[in-house]
Amino acid sequence: MDRLWAPWRLSYVASAKPPGGYDACFICQALAEKNDRNNLVAWRGVRSLVVLNRFPYNNGHLLVAPNAHKGHLHELDADEILETQQMIARLVGIIGEMMKPDGFNVGLNLGKAAGAGLPGHLHWHLVPRWQGDTNFMPVLADTRVIVQSLDELYLSLVDKLK
Ligand SMILES: [Zn+2]
Repeated sequence: MDRLWAPWRLSYVASAKPPGGYDACFICQALAEKNDRNNLVAWRGVRSLVVLNRFPYNNGHLLVAPNAHKGHLHELDADEILETQQMIARLVGIIGEMMKPDGFNVGLNLGKAAGAGLPGHLHWHLVPRWQGDTNFMPVLADTRVIVQSLDELYLSLVDKLK
């Protein structure tokens, strides 16, 4: 039986790091650098941001994170929770229309034991899913063929989030 929800794989891929590793928190780094296209920051809100996953599990894999470097869900205040969840809901609509997936995985890897690649800074993963896509899932993130280029997705998403 095929299992479409394969969280161990998501965790594995989500914890993939670029060659050489991150020097620091890539979310805080992207917020500080103001080089959004290069850092794949698609949207900046008052309390949160949307970043394309540079090592996507699937086409359209996005991250939604609070601006504040907080690693625990209970540390978020009401405004941070509201803004991140509203953005996730909006993105499901936008990506749903853009990419016509059959479903989504939306979730958090809380803590290293749960597969968080960046345990210090919370980020929700939003992963569009297509029927049967687990059949193609590679063992290593970098062997996966991503049909839509990150840059193309980035530009369309920035436009939709204006
Ligand atoms: Zn951070």
